[in-house]
Amino acid sequence: AAAFPPGDGPRPDQTQSVTVRVPAKVNLALSVGPLRPDGYHDLATVFHAVGLYDEVTATAADTLALTCEGEGQADVPLDATNLAWRAAELLARTVGRTPDVRLHLTKGIPVAGGMAGGSADAAGTLVACDALWGTGLPREELHALAAQLGSDVPFALYGGTAMGTGRGEQITPVLARGEFHWVFAFAHEGLSTPAVFRELDRQRATAKEEVAASGVDAELLRALRAGDSTLLGAALRNDLTRPAVSLRPDLQATLLAGRDAGAIGTLLSGSGPTCAFLAADAVRAATVAAALEAAPSVRAVRRALGPAVGAHVL
Ligand code: ATP
Repeated sequence: AAAFPPGDGPRPDQTQSVTVRVPAKVNLALSVGPLRPDGYHDLATVFHAVGLYDEVTATAADTLALTCEGEGQADVPLDATNLAWRAAELLARTVGRTPDVRLHLTKGIPVAGGMAGGSADAAGTLVACDALWGTGLPREELHALAAQLGSDVPFALYGGTAMGTGRGEQITPVLARGEFHWVFAFAHEGLSTPAVFRELDRQRATAKEEVAASGVDAELLRALRAGDSTLLGAALRNDLTRPAVSLRPDLQATLLAGRDAGAIGTLLSGSGPTCAFLAADAVRAATVAAALEAAPSVRAVRRALGPAVGAHVL
């Protein structure tokens, strides 16, 4: 008789692996408060997960290793500076084991695009390694580890639509109804998040503006509760738009191209340079996408529905 008849569990020569899918995010509102003494800003944001995904595959191995394919792969570091690598090390240290895992990233989220791709990979790695190693950490503990890795990482675990406060890492679900049709325009080059915040501070200092405490408009929350895309389109707001456009003037052309093609809302995604467009339905989303495909300031166009579910094992 065969030593390992079919259906008798994994054979010793079979590699064990877990794949986790994680969505990108847009910030439907991104309100940036005054600069704090510690160099951060208090944020009030509404995160919204959309159906553009990275996948993280974790496979048992002798030592920690990382590979990557897909969208923007040439710009993804494959060493300990990668957030996925750091997530595996942090989880291993927390549960007292060696991070003996090979990680493979399949990227659909643009790199340095303001859609939290690195954060998605970190969240995906936490979930994948937790499953591979059978650590079974409670959700709150995974959330605490996620927050240590970066302020956008906890939301990638949850997905859906949620309010983020503090540096963005304190998550509260938001009541949202319905499904929204989004179109995303990727730019030719990424934009550094710290550079955009520095430009915001510079502009505010020059204008000697009184900076209000961060907060989310009631109108936006009402639109989400009602599932009303027209109201939502009118209520989208991102304080980083002005500094991002000043660093990258051609973003203005992208935003106008989407609006002219009939988008009911236009938005810089996070710190940019990806631009997000809300369409009334699937047919209008196709029209907006076609117009953006033709815009010289746009490298690639994607359509996606929101909200999407957070990091989950496939
Ligand atoms: P956010 O919206 O959170 O500001 P982002 O989507 O603009 O993030 P990322 O794609 O997360 O930006 O990457 C920003 C930088 O981080 C990249 O330029 C890259 O050098 C580095 N990085 C580290 N880990 C990753 C990763 N797993 N995927 C992509 N970039 C990573």
